[in-house]
Amino acid sequence: MKNARPLPSYLVQRYHGWRATTHAENKAWYRRLADEGQRPRAMIISCCDSRIHVTSIFGADEGEFFIHRNIAGLVPPYAPDGDHHGTSAAVEYAVTVLKVANLLVVGHSNCGGVRGCHDMCAGLAPQLEEKTSFIGRWMDLLRPSYERQAGIADESERLRAMEKEAVLVSIENLMTFPFVQAAVEAESLTLHGLWNDIGEGVVECYDPETGKFMPV
Ligand SMILES: [Zn+2]
Repeated sequence: MKNARPLPSYLVQRYHGWRATTHAENKAWYRRLADEGQRPRAMIISCCDSRIHVTSIFGADEGEFFIHRNIAGLVPPYAPDGDHHGTSAAVEYAVTVLKVANLLVVGHSNCGGVRGCHDMCAGLAPQLEEKTSFIGRWMDLLRPSYERQAGIADESERLRAMEKEAVLVSIENLMTFPFVQAAVEAESLTLHGLWNDIGEGVVECYDPETGKFMPV
């Protein structure tokens, strides 16, 4: 395995800092996490974007959130076809094994994945149309949203509408998983759609009464 190299020094330093402070001061807590296993209350699905920091936003400690991140924070529809489905596996584990009480889908402003879908559908990113583009094929999940929002003249408003619709598409897709549907119907699981404005630091939550995202 010659391609796995030693850790870069900037990360080694940060690790030693963490071990000497945070870990050293909370040793019993880490020991208990290891011994008792995880019992997270919520699952969070968000974008890979490095600016999205759900553990900071919600002030979370280790063991509190079961987190899955992918491009644009999307959930695909239920497809038991024997293929490799990372997101679906994470949802299955969170709902059927960990039995989380809340599942949050977190979209965000300035999302590059959503921008990619927008540009692909607008004919501006032919490379994403290639069969070999993993990003393009993943963002196909959001293609219908482009059609629905195409009437919005202002591009940044159109992108924002697509970012929020991506959250709702994911929640709709979550409900196609039989175990998610069963847990929601049994009221042991609630689904929540959020959107985070990076620059403003605002988090909005989808309100089913108004059909809009409202500041929390
Ligand atoms: Zn993103």
